[in-house]
Amino acid sequence: MRYERANIQRLSAYRPGEQPRPGDGVIKLNTNENPYLPTDAVLQAIRRISSDSLRLYPAADAREFREVAASIHGPQRDQVIATNGGDELLRLAVTVFCEPGRGGLGMAEPSYILYATLGEIQDTPITTVTLNDDWSWPNDFADQLNDAGCQLAMVVNPHAPSGRLEPMQRLEAMARKFRGVLLIDEAYVDFASHDALSLVTTDGGLDNVLILRTLSKGYSLAGLRFGYGLGHANLVAAMDKARDSYNTDAVSQAAAVAALQSREAAAQSWQRVIEERQRVADELNGRNWRVFPSESNFLLATSPTDARAIYESLKNRGILARYFDQDRLRDKLRITIGTPQQNNALLTALDEL
Ligand SMILES: *Cc1c(COP(=O)(O)O)cnc(C)c1O
Repeated sequence: MRYERANIQRLSAYRPGEQPRPGDGVIKLNTNENPYLPTDAVLQAIRRISSDSLRLYPAADAREFREVAASIHGPQRDQVIATNGGDELLRLAVTVFCEPGRGGLGMAEPSYILYATLGEIQDTPITTVTLNDDWSWPNDFADQLNDAGCQLAMVVNPHAPSGRLEPMQRLEAMARKFRGVLLIDEAYVDFASHDALSLVTTDGGLDNVLILRTLSKGYSLAGLRFGYGLGHANLVAAMDKARDSYNTDAVSQAAAVAALQSREAAAQSWQRVIEERQRVADELNGRNWRVFPSESNFLLATSPTDARAIYESLKNRGILARYFDQDRLRDKLRITIGTPQQNNALLTALDEL
């Protein structure tokens, strides 16, 4: 006997990148973690957690974090929602804005695979729009989503898995033309040359724009599970009704406050990653790979030979990259930028293959 809903029966579960046990000596260039440690301020904040703050329920509204995020990013506190990783914000948005059975969720193809999984869980129609060859948006992106009746669109900028950054004018035009909620996933924005904050800060923000941020990438806190949304107060209030009452815990709230307050220290790691990104791209291009320009902490690179075979050989040498068995990606690897030593190990391994 199967008891789950039919759409859950049909669902193939989202498969995250491989996570070997820490300390296994594997060079992990497959899930876009930051290769540098979290800031000292974060570690101190975690050490300072009192027994009492574990005994008691946490602040249900993550008030202090939201105040700090608002003061740093510019919107009002009621325009900020804290979530258990950015992934929870995505799930909340689908729950709140997408009708099961009709309406629907729109996205570019390819993009973050989790988007489609979340749409399937909600049993809402999914519309995918094919990106241009350079991974830019087609001119009729908003029209296609409007024609399909999408209530929510998820766009990741800088784009994953290519690293391409869409210009601000296009984001704003999309937001104004699209008739549903536009969720701009800025998981990688710390490594990019601009962000879309002005769309949510100018005059209270456009009423249909929601920006996703996470501490997982820029702040080296993927293990903590903390993300947040910035958007129009009405969007935030709607999601606030649908979230778990204690969706972020006392430890992560304290660490998240410290993370944002120490972001100048974190930004040093962004700078190092950006410098290495350029060096690794040059080195790969010099080895007959074709690397797409990236404003993120990874590179999408077309392999001169069978990409899957290279992925396997690297793995045998203890170096993990990401291979997607998916249209337009089968001849490519997505490679997270690591420390200079890790990147050199990758380049050396490629030379030896
Ligand atoms: C990493 C990532 C997120 C959020 O990840 P969390 O660890 O859940 O905060 C969201 N979107 C994209 C495209 C990502 O790569």
